[in-house]
Formats: sequence, structure tokens, C-alpha cells
Amino acid sequence: MTIISFNDYLISKVIFVQILAMSKILVIGSCGQIGIELVLELRKTHGNHNVIASDIKEDYPQSIAEGPYVQLDIMNANKLTSLVKENNVKEVYLLAALLSATAEKKPLFAWELNMQGLFNVLELAKNKLIEKVFWPSSIAVFGNNSPIDSTPQHTIMEPSTVYGISKLAGERWCEYYFNRYNVDVRSIRYPGLISYKSAPGGGTTDYAVDIFIQALKSQSYTCYLKPDAKLPMMYMSDAIRATIEIMEAPRDNIKVRSSYNLSGISFDPEELAAEIKREIPNFSIEYAPDFRQEIAESWPNSVDDSYARNDWNWENKIKIQEIVKKMLDGLS
Ligand code: NAD
Repeated sequence: MTIISFNDYLISKVIFVQILAMSKILVIGSCGQIGIELVLELRKTHGNHNVIASDIKEDYPQSIAEGPYVQLDIMNANKLTSLVKENNVKEVYLLAALLSATAEKKPLFAWELNMQGLFNVLELAKNKLIEKVFWPSSIAVFGNNSPIDSTPQHTIMEPSTVYGISKLAGERWCEYYFNRYNVDVRSIRYPGLISYKSAPGGGTTDYAVDIFIQALKSQSYTCYLKPDAKLPMMYMSDAIRATIEIMEAPRDNIKVRSSYNLSGISFDPEELAAEIKREIPNFSIEYAPDFRQEIAESWPNSVDDSYARNDWNWENKIKIQEIVKKMLDGLS
């Protein structure tokens, strides 16, 4: 047994009390594709104890076990409020949602979860319990009548999926809470995100992760989108950097309070397959489009992110060749 002096005991107690008193960051939906990597990155800067990971799941990945984890259903507003008060949470990243493909299977549930979850967090900020909110939107807010190339920040938005409808409504509510209650809510319209640290959660762009897994496993892949289904995409580390950069930007720089267009790179399955073939020459791809092709057709090929560039200096870094190398290295 280690015996410590009374002085050391007091010092450790003071440190413990200081840790408790420090304001905390809460990530909701932290077991998902974005959540895991966001928690890890935030903990690098703020310390493990100051970033609370939470998700509806009882079990959580080992990679986020270095800091606190709380099982939380975002629909439970009372539990959320207690968690925030008891831990002096001042910033919330709300990632819990049903994604595009899964949402089409349970439209009413998706609407309920995606909207009520957002209201529960916006209300905390309206009541001054928290100071800053991050909530992600998506390229799914656009629709068949939006310009398809370099889709502008402000344009026709007529989403045809329940996911897109919930994201567009969420954007309007974020802007409303900012204008009406001065809530500091910040948002990005993420493109399709590519990463290997956790599985994607049922989106239309998941093929761009699955393709690498199958390329390594069986050197072949059957794609649920058509070869020319070009979509805006981004490597996860760029998306995490964007998320942290928009949250750290001075308040007055954030002029768009609905959600910012964010551009990475754009490619279609055929182009991605060709890049993979450079690394795995035996790789082959077949196409069997399903309902997700229709969703993809309603989304932009590319987006214009000049507002994000001007307002908070956004710049994408990772291009397709680098993504392919990182994915194959990471997965193998
Ligand atoms: P994901 O599905 O991988 O993760 C979502 C997490 O939320 C899961 O771990 C899930 O268990 C959790 N969750 C679900 N219901 C919950 C509830 N009631 N309470 C608490 N947690 C709950 O999703 P993701 O890809 O990490 O996406 C996170 C956010 O980013 C979502 O709002 C999504 O719409 C948005 N987004 C993602 C992408 C992408 O390509 N991944 C693109 C655009 C926007």
C-alpha cells in the first residue's frame, strides 16, 4: 500500500475539486462515426476529464474509455439537464441523430429524434445553462431543385428525404434561437464523411467507407450507387478540424446561424474505385443501385463553401489520393 503525506493528500484533493469545478464539454452521440474521433480530439486539448462522452448505448468503445462516459438518451430532457448542471457543462456537441438511409426506414421516429434532441439542447442554452452548442446539418438539406454544382450557401432548398427535412427544419430553428434568444449555436452542413476508426451509421455516402473494407477483404465491391453518383465528401480529420475551428472562432465571425456549407472533395464511385485500383490492382467493382441512389440524385455534386472560408478561414486539406492511402493503411 502506498502511504501519502497529509500535504500530498491536500494537494490531490484541491486538484480533484478544481477538476470538478472546471467547465466541461459534453458530446452526445459519442459512440458514432464522428463522435469517437471528436471526443478523442477534444480531449487532446481540454484533457480527458473535461470532455464527457455520452450516448444511448450502454457499452462504449475502448478508445474513449480514458475519460468520463455517461449513458444518456437525448430524448430524456430531465436527465440531460441534471447531467449538465451536476458537471458544470458549458459546451454541447449534439451528434445523436438518425442518418439518411436509416431515417427513410423509420421516418416518424427519425423526425422525432432529430428534432426533439435538438430542442432539448437549444432549450438548455436558452435557459443559460450552457454557453455554446454545436449541431451538424448535412448536404441533405438540398434537393432536386437546388443547383447541383457548386451549390451556393443560400439557394432553393426542397429536400425530399425525412433526414433532409429534419436537417433543414433544424437549421431554421438554430437561426431562430440565435435571433430570438441569443443562443450561440454553430453548425456545418457536413458532406459524406470517410473514416476507418468506427463504422458509418446508415448514411447514403457509407459506400465510400465500405468499399475500402471490401477491397481489403475480397478485392471486390458491389456498390449501391451508380458509377457516376458524384457527391461531396470529406476525410474525417478535416471534418473534426472544421468542427473545432468553427467552435473556437470568435462569436462575431459566425455570421451564418443556420448552417455553413463545407466543401472537401467531390468524386463518384467509379473515380474512387480507380484510385483504389492503383493500390490494389486486382480490385473490381460492380453496381447494384438501390433506394440510396435516388437519395444521392437529390443531393449536390459539389458545394460552394466561400462563406465558411471568409468567416472563419475554413480550408480543406486532404485530397482523394491521400484518403485512399490513409484508409487502406488504417484498415489494414
Ligand atoms: P452515427 O449514426 O455514426 O452516430 C450517432 C450516434 O448517436 C450513435 O452512436 C447512436 O448510438 C447515438 N444515438 C442515437 N440515438 C440516440 C439517443 N436517443 N440518445 C443519445 N444517443 C443516440 O452518426 P454520425 O455519422 O457520427 O453523425 C453524427 C451527426 O453528424 C448526425 O447528426 C448526422 O446527421 C451528422 N452528419 C453525419 C454525416 C456523415 O457522413 N457521417 C454527414 C452529414 C451529417
